[in-house]
Order: sequence, then C-alpha cells, then structure tokens
Amino acid sequence: MNGHHAQTRAVHPPVISPAGSRPLGMPIYQGHLFSFETAGELAAAFQGPDEAFMYARLGNPTVRSLERAVAELEGGAGALATGSGMGAVNAVLMGLLRSGDHVIAQTALYGGTYALFQDLAERWGVEVTFIPGDDPAEVREALRPETRLVYLETVANPTTHVTDIPAFSAAVSGTDVLTVVDNTFAPLLCKPIDHGADIVIHSTTKYLSGHGDVIGGIAVFADPALHQRVWSHAVELGSVADPFAAWLTVRGLATVPMRVARQSESALDLAGRLAAHPSVTRVHYPGLVDHPQHEVARRLLPDGSGGVLAFELAGGRDAGSAFSEAVQLIGLGPSLGAVVSLVMHPASTSHRQMDAASLAAAGIGEGTVRLSVGLEHPDDLWTDIEQALAKAT
Ligand code: PLP
Repeated sequence: MNGHHAQTRAVHPPVISPAGSRPLGMPIYQGHLFSFETAGELAAAFQGPDEAFMYARLGNPTVRSLERAVAELEGGAGALATGSGMGAVNAVLMGLLRSGDHVIAQTALYGGTYALFQDLAERWGVEVTFIPGDDPAEVREALRPETRLVYLETVANPTTHVTDIPAFSAAVSGTDVLTVVDNTFAPLLCKPIDHGADIVIHSTTKYLSGHGDVIGGIAVFADPALHQRVWSHAVELGSVADPFAAWLTVRGLATVPMRVARQSESALDLAGRLAAHPSVTRVHYPGLVDHPQHEVARRLLPDGSGGVLAFELAGGRDAGSAFSEAVQLIGLGPSLGAVVSLVMHPASTSHRQMDAASLAAAGIGEGTVRLSVGLEHPDDLWTDIEQALAKAT
C-alpha cells in the first residue's frame, strides 16, 4: 500500500494469515467480505456449502469449523449452523417441504416446533399427522404417498418420553420418507444417524454451547445432497449462525462429553432421591426403571439419560409454582443444558393458558416441575430441592 494516500491505506490494513505455525483453536473470522483472483472462482463460490468463502450468509470459516465439528460428532456428512434452534428446524422443514406434502410428527414436541407445524398446515398446506411415538406401527398406519418426512425428538420435553429411533426409521426404510430427529436433549448420548436418521437437529443454545451465552442451532445431514438442498433454502431464509456465537459453541463442544456425562449422573442421583420423597408423586427420568421407555433408553442412551428430569408434586399447581419460586441455588428460568441448574413449572409459565385437561393431553400435570441439572454438586442441589419442597408442600 506504499504510495497510496493515508485514506486508502486506512481501509486496507495488512491481513495476516499465519505462516510457519497454525492456531490450535479456531480463530473468529468476524468479517463477511472475501475477495477472489478471478470472476470464475467467485462464481463457483455461489454453488454450495463446501465452496470457497464469499459472503458470510453462504459460509464463514468459523461457522464452518462448528459445522464440521458437529457433523463429525453426529456421524454426518455435513452440517448447517443457524442463528437459533428454531432457525435449524425452519431451514429443514421449509427447505424440504412444499404445499400438499404430508408429515408424520410425534405429539410430544418442543412448543416452537409444534407451533411451526400448525403454521405449515394452516398457511402452507402441509398436512401433519401427530402420533404418540410409542410404536412404529403408528408410522406405518399414517404413511401416505405424499408423506415426505417423520419428525421425532430423542428425549421429549418435559415428559422425557424416549423415542425408539431405530424402530421408527426402520418403519420408513426402503421408501423416500426422511427421518428427522431433534437430538437437543441427548447430545453424544445418542447418535441418531447411526440409528437410521437422515437429519439431526440441535438447539446449540442448550448442551452443545452449554454455558448459557449463545443462541444457535444446527442441522446435520447423513447425505450431502440433503445438505445442499437445505443449505440452498437457508441462504434464502437468512437464518445463519453469527461467527462469534459459532466460536463460543466450538469452545463449548470441548467439554460436552464431560458435562453431559456428569449432568446425567447427577440427574439420575436426584431422580432417585426425588422418587423417595413423600411430597413427590412421580418422577419422569429415562434412567429410572419405572420410566415407560426405560428399556428403549437402555438401548439408545447406554451411557446416560441426559440432564433433564421432571417430577410431579402432590400439591398440584400451587405447589409446583411455589416450589419453582422457593429454590435458591437453582434458577427459575426457561432454558436447559447449561452449567447452572434451572427449574420451570410449565402450568404456571410456558403452558399457563392450558387447563388441567389440555395439560394432561400434552402429558403434563398441574404440579409437574422440570429440572435441568447443571454441574453443581448434587448434594448442594438436593439441599436446595429439599428446602424448596418443604416450603412448597
Ligand atoms: N428443540 C428443542 C428440543 C428445544 O428444547 C428448543 C428450545 O428450547 C428448540 C428446539 C429451539 O431452540 P432455540 O431456542 O435455540 O431456537
């Protein structure tokens, strides 16, 4: 830049690429501008998710680092990182479905996904058949010529219902129907692609980033052609991951195996203690032998059932609400999968518009409390839970 005016030099600082050594961690490429030697190279960069970086809505090095890392952890061929978990759900559903298509989805779904399915049905003419998700025969019965995909969650919220992914994906094997699994609650504990899934979705907001400082999502594809199709739509949708959020998530990935293992151990411990408490009428945790899908969980989640459990308080709605306000170490809040523990009482918060009958239809009791177990010592969590139970009941 010697010979140019200061005004010109100021906007063309030297761009340093390390030579002779390499960064051990992924740097943050915050910029969205990349330039090329030839117009042909630039034209090629428009073509797909693995091309040269050109404009960050189509791809960014830090975001691609996250995509490759999660694709590898999930055993997929490629991945698409998005601005939120719902961004990933939208990119997959809107990218693959068109008016007149039919979808089979399990009833116990994340609320945002359920609302999107209702929207798809009402405004976009995509028909949805909801099934309980207990028996693969439900899928065989619901199948139609225009069925395009089956949508499942490994572990559902807040009931902790576990879906037998190998059995459900086998029900559509040999057809063109895709199996899509939201694996947010069971990262690394279950690898749905190994069990026949075509697409795996995560809200990376939860366990994958793990520290409560990121909103993000990701979809992992078993087949590169599916990746290409959904990527093309995501570029139009514009729900892309921000490089800094992607960088924080890559950093979070380093400790996911240890965090999830410890959170699963603590959750099992607390589930056992809660089940023995006189104010608790029922505990929902797949690791407990009386859980309705305990046998499925033993097969699908052999190393731990995750960090989320739910329990029913004998005192119903008032007791559930009072318990959620009485915890001191544990936070009262809506998210999950973070290093800190959180409780939520659906009947007085996220599901407050529903009466007892509608709650029951969704598998939620008036006194159901959801607990996302963090990395605190389980004895400290139990001390907090015991004092809150004493106040609430
Ligand atoms: N899927 C599941 C299972 C979730 O629990 C959530 C959020 O709680 C989402 C998807 C949506 O993720 P996000 O809030 O990152 O958009």
